[in-house]
Amino acid sequence: MSAARNVIISGSGEFDYDFIVVGSGFGGSVAAYRLAEKGYKVAVMEMGCRWTPENLPRTTWSLHRWFWRPKLALRGFFSIQYFRHITVLHGCAVGGGSVTYATTLLRPPDKVWQTGSWTGLADWKSEMPQHYRQASRMLGVVENNILGPADRLLKAAAEVTGVGHTFYRTSVAIFQAPEGEAGGNSFPDPYFGGEGPPRTTCIGCGGCMMGCRYGAKNTLDLNYLWLAEKRGTQIFPQSKVVEVKPLNGAADGADGYEVRTVKSTNWFFKAPRRFTCRGVVFAASSLGTMELLFRLKESGSLPRISDQLGKHVRTNSESLLAVRTPGSTEDLSKGVAIGSGVYVEEHTHIEAVRYPSGSDTMSLLTTILTGGVPGPARVALWLRNLAAALLRHPWKTLRVLQPFGWARENVVLLCMQALEGNLEMCWRRRWFWPFQKFLSSRGEKIPTYIPQANQFAETLARLTGGTAMSMIPEILFNIPGTAHCLGGCVIADSPEHGVVDYRHRLFGYKNVYVCDGSVVAANLGVNPSLTITALAERAMSFIPARSATDWSDFAESETM
Ligand SMILES: Cc1cc2nc3c(=O)[nH]c(=O)nc-3n(C[C@H](O)[C@H](O)[C@H](O)COP(=O)(O)OP(=O)(O)OC[C@H]3O[C@@H](n4cnc5c(N)ncnc54)[C@H](O)[C@@H]3O)c2cc1C
Ligand code: SF4
Repeated sequence: MSAARNVIISGSGEFDYDFIVVGSGFGGSVAAYRLAEKGYKVAVMEMGCRWTPENLPRTTWSLHRWFWRPKLALRGFFSIQYFRHITVLHGCAVGGGSVTYATTLLRPPDKVWQTGSWTGLADWKSEMPQHYRQASRMLGVVENNILGPADRLLKAAAEVTGVGHTFYRTSVAIFQAPEGEAGGNSFPDPYFGGEGPPRTTCIGCGGCMMGCRYGAKNTLDLNYLWLAEKRGTQIFPQSKVVEVKPLNGAADGADGYEVRTVKSTNWFFKAPRRFTCRGVVFAASSLGTMELLFRLKESGSLPRISDQLGKHVRTNSESLLAVRTPGSTEDLSKGVAIGSGVYVEEHTHIEAVRYPSGSDTMSLLTTILTGGVPGPARVALWLRNLAAALLRHPWKTLRVLQPFGWARENVVLLCMQALEGNLEMCWRRRWFWPFQKFLSSRGEKIPTYIPQANQFAETLARLTGGTAMSMIPEILFNIPGTAHCLGGCVIADSPEHGVVDYRHRLFGYKNVYVCDGSVVAANLGVNPSLTITALAERAMSFIPARSATDWSDFAESETM
């Protein structure tokens, strides 16, 4: 579509769109749909590709369709970024992280609203439940009714450890048949009164993190984005936003914005495009929004962005462990990606995770379980454990270290802790590549060793006759992996303490919002996507219908 053909005459000028949303994950999809519903003309710029059941990969061995590293011609939907303090796993697609996520949607405890810079800025405890309900309805959240062998093992290990009563079925965004009934049956749209796409019930193949090839997983392209497109929203896949700056010299953006994109999957012919709009919603995920805003602040395009950008970055203090049982009589890949969880103590929570049969590449990151104090001593202990295992049980040890059959024989244990602790992201040159600035981490290290999680993995291994495993980056480099990177543009009372106000409005600019994981101001202790969705629902609820909009006064951030 030509940008020039479709202009809006609005207030002080002509615009291609009322709002441009950067990123189509949980925050971006909500923003796109709610704005379109209110009558705005909306475009969504998404760096990743569009996925359908037909083009999704079958297993993780199909690297070019699974992994996102476009410079290496890998154009999938799953990405890993390495920093000194954390390794971040994230999604990159039309639908953002929802294409690769495990669909676990949990509400955090109320105490998170009394922690961090958002405390006291709204009556969160009474406001949020309605937005969680709305988000859950839109995402089709149900209690998981497909327990696979890995879930039963988790329960058995919890019982042996004395915490069997904490076992719970996860809440998942999956279209499931009634318990006990076979899946695989197709129905007309079950969620939106016929306005949504037809769906098929889940067959429990364990493949949710590879995208669902059966139409059972409620990814954002089947709900929020679907409905947004029906209301005229235009989605531009493979379009990376590289520039956002105020138009006509109004430094606060009162005259609208210019947004520039390039084709994210091209090496050379970047196909640059320029669009204009009245307002912008940054929703590129915690990492993506931080990176873009740092670039725009540094280049002088949006210099008023708070110096708090990059501060208060959090994870769920995760640790990934696994138990591999070669020769397991049961196929441990069956079920949904995260079917159940247990609390091994008040702040420590473990979920049973699986990949679908044949998706064995993640095994290349696992090794023999090793505890101990992080650092050289832990590496030495790991080498000793590995040597001892190879000497005592050479065949068994080699068997658990080789990749083939991993997904069928393996339970991944995702351990999360609701403890405070955060780091900082900054924009600086790297010693080995001084020509360019990059997002880099600094601050205190996040613990990579959670003793309760290791003990739990050992208990599970004893039950199955398997071997407990750790993640190699956690041991070798003392760097925890996280799929839940949050914060960096947190909600606060003023630019001295955060980057956006309590309605997600960017301090210093008019009609600019941030709606993604970067605004989260506390460690949620649970998988964050439901909270990101609910927060975006809340932020969008403050925006008036287009017919009632006076662009000059509704979107200026407030300090408190
Ligand atoms: C393997 C895996 C499993 C997970 N499982 C769960 C789970 O079970 N439950 C849960 O709650 N969470 C889970 N998560 C985490 C979840 O995916 C994220 O918390 C969530 O997607 C974050 O939402 P968001 O709106 O902040 O951004 P995202 O959903 O990450 O969306 C941001 C989008 O912006 C795009 N983007 C970035 N920069 C630009 C740019 N410059 N221009 C254009 N587009 C851009 C990205 O491509 C991306 O698609 C999982 C994550 C992974 C990796
Ligand atoms: S378990 Fe399989 S069918 Fe069910 S939602 Fe996940 S990928 Fe789809």
